[in-house]
Amino acid sequence: MLPYMRDIYGNASGVHLFSREAMSAIDRSRRDIASLLNCFQSEIFFTSGGTESDNWAIRGVAQSLRHKGNHIITTQFEHPAVLAVCKYLSTVGYDVTYIGVSNEGYVSVDDIEKAIRPETILVSVMYANNEIGTIQPIRQIADVCHKNNVLFHTDAVQAIGSENIDVRELDVDLLSASAHKFYGPKGVGFLYVKQGTPLGNYLFGGMQESGKRAGTLNSPGIVGMVEALKLCRDEQKESGERIKDLCDKFIGKMLRALPICQINGGNNRLKGTINLCFTGVKNEALLTLLDMNGIAASGGSACSAGSLEPSHVLLAIGKTPEEARSSIRFSFGKYNTAEEIDYAAQVIIDAVCRLSPDSDLIKYSSSEGDRI
Ligand SMILES: *Cc1c(COP(=O)(O)O)cnc(C)c1O
Repeated sequence: MLPYMRDIYGNASGVHLFSREAMSAIDRSRRDIASLLNCFQSEIFFTSGGTESDNWAIRGVAQSLRHKGNHIITTQFEHPAVLAVCKYLSTVGYDVTYIGVSNEGYVSVDDIEKAIRPETILVSVMYANNEIGTIQPIRQIADVCHKNNVLFHTDAVQAIGSENIDVRELDVDLLSASAHKFYGPKGVGFLYVKQGTPLGNYLFGGMQESGKRAGTLNSPGIVGMVEALKLCRDEQKESGERIKDLCDKFIGKMLRALPICQINGGNNRLKGTINLCFTGVKNEALLTLLDMNGIAASGGSACSAGSLEPSHVLLAIGKTPEEARSSIRFSFGKYNTAEEIDYAAQVIIDAVCRLSPDSDLIKYSSSEGDRI
């Protein structure tokens, strides 16, 4: 990214040499993303991240197809970037159905099909949930949507770095991605829009992004995002296996040492995401102890942090508010080491023992450290 901040800093939309250099980097980036996802360059639109991509996909379709209908289907456990747009749209004449999810954290294709009505214009279901990691049957949902002449959007923000996504194979009409979820820079992302999909303009102004999303392009961000995605794809198999091993090792330690610990959600999930419930222990207190020991985890998505409400995702999969307030999401990445997993497990076990109201339930003691 540095050359695009220091040397090639021209505005990509300008006409002089500096601009042309910046534009050719952006063209190259668009070509590279298109080839990684198996689509046309003209189907990739650069945005400021996942939130914008989700907002644009949903508002853009809603606006373009208003004459056809006003019904949108989504799920109860989407990211706030989807839920809040749907909530807004329902105040301006749209009707939104929020499909429930199973206790394991999966959306049923049947439920989607049953919810489709003649006035349905769009279905939006996330590829993988950001709090519990469960992966949804995206291709099957796309089939059901298309059989019924309905457009399908997926928020693939959590999945794009670790799953081998091919948009033709998935057959989605719109797909959202964000660079900082796959080791890229913050504040940049993209929206895939299948050719011919009716999608209203998002930002009005200049002619950037085919006139649909005006504004000077973030050339260093775009170059960085594409480089990060290429690296992810190159290392996908190897780092995926490593991350899964670390995550499994961590889960094993938790479950063996802490009988009060349970996994939230089913097993078909992202390799590096696990959500655990520590029954009876307040996650806020636990997170504070973990933070003091250099362990960064969360009680929900960063986008809902600061709210005292229990996670809407955990409630959607049937957890009680108490269980939701006793749960923590842990994420593992390619830079984590086995030593870090050992350290984190030890800190968490000690902290849970300290905080548990019912320490009899915990059959662990520090002297038995080697048991874990
Ligand atoms: C992080 C995230 C977003 C928001 O992306 P930003 O780039 O942070 O705006 C949207 N959806 C999901 C599933 C996410 O995990």
